Amino acid sequence: MIRLKEVTLREIHLPLVEPFTISSGSENMRRILLLEVEDVDGVVGWGECVAMAMPNYNPESIDTAWLALTEWIIPMAVGPTFPDPGYIYPLLQKRIRGHEMARASLEMATWDVWARRKEVSLSTILGGTREKVGTGISIGIQQSPAHLVEKIKGYTKEGYQRIKVKIKPGFDLPFVKAVREEFGPDLSLMVDANNAYTLDDIPLFQELDRFSLMMIEQPLDCTDIVRHATLQRKLKTPICLDESITKVEQAEDMISLGSGKIINIKPGRVGGHASAKAIHDVAMSHKIPVWCGGMLESGIGRAHNVALASLENFSLPGDISPSTRYWEQDIVTPEWTMDENGFISVPVNKPGIGVEVNVDRIEDLTVRRFHSDSKQLKLV
Ligand SMILES: [Mg+2]
Repeated sequence: MIRLKEVTLREIHLPLVEPFTISSGSENMRRILLLEVEDVDGVVGWGECVAMAMPNYNPESIDTAWLALTEWIIPMAVGPTFPDPGYIYPLLQKRIRGHEMARASLEMATWDVWARRKEVSLSTILGGTREKVGTGISIGIQQSPAHLVEKIKGYTKEGYQRIKVKIKPGFDLPFVKAVREEFGPDLSLMVDANNAYTLDDIPLFQELDRFSLMMIEQPLDCTDIVRHATLQRKLKTPICLDESITKVEQAEDMISLGSGKIINIKPGRVGGHASAKAIHDVAMSHKIPVWCGGMLESGIGRAHNVALASLENFSLPGDISPSTRYWEQDIVTPEWTMDENGFISVPVNKPGIGVEVNVDRIEDLTVRRFHSDSKQLKLV
């Protein structure tokens, strides 16, 4: 049984090492919401809300998540007794439409508490079987094919297992062509369109089909499943859905309709670990491989992703880069590192998320906080 006593929600500002650009916008500094959750026995767990500053990935933003957490989610979750954290997702799913990232942050922090109570790793409690997870890199849209090629040269030397290139109209075919010409057919290469295309672009995707990409991620609308099935029927390259899958039912629809052959699972996007695991399980039963995407997480969100990606069907490299890819200094110890073969070790022998949270540094970075006891928003 688990009963939460209090939650502290903080917004921190972490400067990015370099701006990150996708088809819908660019980020220089990451605004991040962190949840520190304590149960009635004083066990503390951490979660991170992966919403962006603007609602340009999904409908949520830092500010909508702040509202949803402080007004609805934290008050619902603090007080009741749950048999285990798996009961939180259905409760919140029933009462709150949308707001998956806000819901996930509370749910995932509670899994950390649960694992610490059991004195096992989060990966163990989620059913993970891997001791290390493969890492790929996601590269934002570059100004020219030559710039992209230069970037990839550096990253392949660092050991990343696959390269993902963000694309949008005008920044697609010549970029992919240049990368294939430079690195040859053996480079594990994929593209992510973040919904920037329509079915009018079928000829473009048929051109891309010649470049032996591992997958094309989310080419069409962010809520679409039906049109992706039309596109997939015309392509050899597997389509991977990201934004379109926010719960297990949509994964089932994707599989029934043939809308894609791979799923990018982000626990934040789907409402937390219980939902992510349900999607993982249904995909595995249909031999659909999955991988874990990234949302420019700090070391806390990254820890949750590493634990989830230790599950058996996460058979493709994820976007779980080492801390230095994004941050001058992370907020956890040790920072996340990658070995020369592109693997990140799962801290299977440490309780909970397996890293120490640097609370002093978080305090220094905090710009606002909410404490569930007072229900008063305090500006710091
Ligand atoms: Mg994506």
